[in-house]
Amino acid sequence: MVKLKANKVLKIRGGGELPFAKPITEEKCPAGEHAERIYFPEIAPEEAHPLRRVEKMKEAGNEPFEVAAVEHNIKAGHITHGRQISRGVTPREKAAGMKGDTHHVRAVCIKCGASRELDHASSKTSSTECKNQDSSYGSDQMVNNKTLLERGFNVSYKVPDAKRGDRRLDVLKDAGFEIVFVKF
Ligand SMILES: [Zn+2]
Repeated sequence: MVKLKANKVLKIRGGGELPFAKPITEEKCPAGEHAERIYFPEIAPEEAHPLRRVEKMKEAGNEPFEVAAVEHNIKAGHITHGRQISRGVTPREKAAGMKGDTHHVRAVCIKCGASRELDHASSKTSSTECKNQDSSYGSDQMVNNKTLLERGFNVSYKVPDAKRGDRRLDVLKDAGFEIVFVKF
């Protein structure tokens, strides 16, 4: 018997209330079966300019490759506003008790409420994962992204230029993702 949280309304920062069509279950959908929507975070006015947001990313200690990937998108003109960019909390914000996911762009499932960070999203239907890793790329995250592709979203993976010949990327190519190589 699935337990129901009747009338539960999930509040998402920057996204307002999520309109659940029916009560959400306490059980999460299996990977790949979510019905995700993209939600942008609330932004302080001084971070509306994407380059100011990038400065905050650096202050928050986001990975240097994530920063490089965002800078790539700003130059390409795909990112024009700070709210399209996820960042961590700065040491000062952390000390003030701010939660680590406060400034994240999120994919939220309207069926089960599951929520995950997207590195950046240029629109409500276009997201990017930044990967600088030596491990394989297959994961629940990839399965969930594949479902977004099947639902008509654009999902790209940004990886460092040096990994251009890495056969481990084949799992992403075979799944139909756009792979963008970023000088790093
Ligand atoms: Zn779900």
